[in-house]
Amino acid sequence: MARTRQAAVAASGTWTDPDGVRMPDGEVHAWTPGTNQTLCGVQLSRARLNRFPHVPWKEVLPESGGAADQVRRVCPRCAAAMGHRSGERRWSRVSPRP
Ligand SMILES: [Zn+2]
Repeated sequence: MARTRQAAVAASGTWTDPDGVRMPDGEVHAWTPGTNQTLCGVQLSRARLNRFPHVPWKEVLPESGGAADQVRRVCPRCAAAMGHRSGERRWSRVSPRP
């Protein structure tokens, strides 16, 4: 399963940032646009997940994410599927913001 690690985001909630861009909220999963399930096998329609084809997966990771503000939980199975190193848990956000 050596696919390209290009995934977007599916999330349980949504909010709109000041620029009018829809952003993920709540629990986030990795999702490949064009499919209807997350990388961990959750059906989007069943779980009522919102799709965010414009938000790259890495943007919702707490340590890197410009879209992580409202993210409460990153699905560990999707994170693992995306090659997130599990030994390296840096949940404290390294934010350049003042
Ligand atoms: Zn998941």
